[in-house]
Amino acid sequence: MSRLSWILSCAVFCVLACDRRADVERSPMTPERAEPAPRWGLVIHGGAGTIDPSNLSPEQEREYRTTLDAALSAGYAVLESGAPAMDAVEAAIVVMEDSPLFNAGKGAVFTHDGHNELDASVMDGYTQQAGAVAGVRTVKNPIRAARAVMTDSEHVLLASGGADAFARSRGLEQVDPSYFGTPMRREQLQRALERDAVVLDHGGSDKFGTVGAVAVDQQGHLAAGTSTGGMTNKRWGRVGDSPIIGAGTYADDASCAVSATGHGEFFIREAAAHSVCARMEFGGASLEDAAHAVVFDQLGAIGGEGGIIAIDARGMMAAPFNTPGMYRGYRFSDGSDGVWIWAQDHPREAAAHE
Ligand code: ASP
Repeated sequence: MSRLSWILSCAVFCVLACDRRADVERSPMTPERAEPAPRWGLVIHGGAGTIDPSNLSPEQEREYRTTLDAALSAGYAVLESGAPAMDAVEAAIVVMEDSPLFNAGKGAVFTHDGHNELDASVMDGYTQQAGAVAGVRTVKNPIRAARAVMTDSEHVLLASGGADAFARSRGLEQVDPSYFGTPMRREQLQRALERDAVVLDHGGSDKFGTVGAVAVDQQGHLAAGTSTGGMTNKRWGRVGDSPIIGAGTYADDASCAVSATGHGEFFIREAAAHSVCARMEFGGASLEDAAHAVVFDQLGAIGGEGGIIAIDARGMMAAPFNTPGMYRGYRFSDGSDGVWIWAQDHPREAAAHE
């Protein structure tokens, strides 16, 4: 290569590199990626809980599988176009929020007072930026509101009416609060009120549904997001782990991206999502070992039920859960693909589950 073309190549490289860096605030902790991810793709969940095959009719099971597949397709198409992981996370979660099957967006569980109060969060592993909303009642897609908090405010977490007002001010679609409820969720509240119990949206076919997604894009950057209605019969403005960065959601290109589902109070106490990343970054654990240790050792030790999905910059993934089932699926650029519901569905996870 002549001296002139060498200088020109360097100049082009610098312009491209500066351009990529100019629009994001990057953490000094975030490593530069020397090369693209060996494989890219996404992992999703639709909630973990006490589900067994007898609780789901074949028709219901088909609907869950179809919707999980549609969420994967939406996210994968975004990644295939070369867009960032965060776009894929949002696209996949919107599909699940718009489905009444899951406890997020349409189909969210009811509070003690008969409202739907929704929580959501996102984190970008490349920029280390994050956004979240808690207790929103009118923004149709809370995950979009969480992303707007990240990209369009100087804050990380907005709550209740203020968060809805912010979403409105950013032009996000609003709905009448009655949009979110379904007859099935109302029955669940009725049953919980009769038992006077705060019920995790877990346990039986009627107790599932927080949704989440983690993705690695073609550049090897990570993102995570989680969206939920929380727990049936929750009161006093209760907020779970889903909108808490580090508990229900976390992403860092240096380690992994994580979305959690389960009994939120336990996930908050264990800083569950961040713990997976910390075990990798500071303890040198593999993604799979880190994820399993958080679910089975940390959460298991204090009685926290649920599961997580996690992905790293090389496209490795883990989806451990300590409940009998977790709606989940993945799709990667090497052709691996699928959706699962029960532990016995998936031999590697089933082994880890025992
Ligand atoms: N983690 C959610 C919460 O505690 C519930 C769930 O994942 O189903 O609000």
